[in-house]
Amino acid sequence: MIKITEKYNCTGCHACANVCPKECINMESDSEGFLYPGVDLKSCIACGLCEKVCPVSNKKDIDNEPQAFACYSKNEQVRLESSSGGIFTLIAEQIINEGGVVFGVILDKDMTAVHSYAESMEQLKAFRGSKYVQSKIGEAYKIAGNFLKKNRKVLFSGTPCQIAGLKAYLQQEYDNLFCIDIICHGVPSPRAWGKYVSYQESHMGSKVQGANFRHKDKGWNRFSMELEFNNGTRYIQTLDKDLYMQAFLKDACLRPSCHKCSFKTLHRQSDITLADFWGIQKIAPHMDDDKGTSLVFANSGKGKLMLDRLQNLIVSERVDIDKAVCYNPAAFRSAGENPKRGAFFEDIGKLPFDKLAYKYCSESIVITAKRKMTEAAAKVLKKTGLLHAAKKVLK
Ligand SMILES: Cc1cc2nc3c(=O)[nH]c(=O)nc-3n(C[C@H](O)[C@H](O)[C@H](O)COP(=O)(O)OP(=O)(O)OC[C@H]3O[C@@H](n4cnc5c(N)ncnc54)[C@H](O)[C@@H]3O)c2cc1C
Ligand code: SF4
Ligand code: SF4
Ligand code: SF4
Repeated sequence: MIKITEKYNCTGCHACANVCPKECINMESDSEGFLYPGVDLKSCIACGLCEKVCPVSNKKDIDNEPQAFACYSKNEQVRLESSSGGIFTLIAEQIINEGGVVFGVILDKDMTAVHSYAESMEQLKAFRGSKYVQSKIGEAYKIAGNFLKKNRKVLFSGTPCQIAGLKAYLQQEYDNLFCIDIICHGVPSPRAWGKYVSYQESHMGSKVQGANFRHKDKGWNRFSMELEFNNGTRYIQTLDKDLYMQAFLKDACLRPSCHKCSFKTLHRQSDITLADFWGIQKIAPHMDDDKGTSLVFANSGKGKLMLDRLQNLIVSERVDIDKAVCYNPAAFRSAGENPKRGAFFEDIGKLPFDKLAYKYCSESIVITAKRKMTEAAAKVLKKTGLLHAAKKVLK
């Protein structure tokens, strides 16, 4: 029977809960807001299946030769609505066109990230865009397994640990299964995201009805968090100033397992890996227009075939995988733990999100504010013709 003695060793993938024949594993939230399995001992029959499928304690080595590509969709609207180059939507559309089912992450009406499935182009739209918070798998593996057994094509997308969880749960290969994972920095706490949403709601006096973590109004490189409220108002702020993105990027609120991730490798269980092609301006500058370029790994024969089928719909170029990941260390290295992470979570129940972020993640926010003030002051001095004189005085 599964027992979590060390939180670093549980990714919250839900494979154990999905496989339990007695349905006696509940995924329970800890004080940080992450889900861990809890076993109802009265119902457990000690069959050992939960331990057998756990992808962390039964790590799989993959022997493959991934190929890397710089890609983006020729459909400009899809590309601008997606986090990087819009490749996820193109693959998902192929699967729907073949009568298949697509699993991905949506934000439900309470702004909780959950895995769900789509059987139509319209339903697919909700999966578009990265949701920077851990999604709840729920019963998604069981549902996907049932579709697979009925010979429906299934595309399952998620973090590398979620794909490992699905494959471990299924315990067999399926020709009709296609998996997409991402280069994964790590997943922030659903509790931290909930606190941020509540803070924004009380600030605006209205409920959040939609969130886009990767709005491209200022470009793909300097993306923005966008929130839409029930009263018609809108919040939009670049990643360097948005308090939630700062807490995420400063590694103050990631799941413990993300700091010792067992799935950081170039030899992955998925068919396709999607990522932002950070560093594209150095590797293939002609493919960088700041609208979003994806780094894509074709990890399997199925993945390579899929990219071939997309050729008319994408702009793509083969790149050297080792050079490409130099600019994206999350592909192979776990995020370091912020030394203030523990204190952040100790205070999460006591402080509103803005105070929490200013207290524990403020360094870069303050530096950005100072830089802005210096730039603004320089502009005024330039306008008044005093910039040269001021520089002399400062020297
Ligand atoms: C938590 C997280 C961390 C990431 N870290 C990095 C990183 O360090 N470096 C990097 O290059 N790229 C990272 N990415 C991937 C990147 O943000 C894009 O998702 C990727 O480039 C695909 O973009 P796209 O334009 O093809 O499609 P999009 O439409 O933007 O991608 C949507 C896909 O992402 C999935 N998805 C969305 N939110 C989640 C979630 N919470 N959990 C699991 N799957 C989700 C959807 O189901 C769908 O499959 C991360 C994504 C997430 C969700
Ligand atoms: S040992 Fe079997 S019955 Fe008990 S929790 Fe694990 S899977 Fe469920
Ligand atoms: S199967 Fe997944 S959720 Fe269950 S213990 Fe292992 S990592 Fe945690
Ligand atoms: S960093 Fe690793 S453990 Fe964390 S969500 Fe990503 S794949 Fe899972």
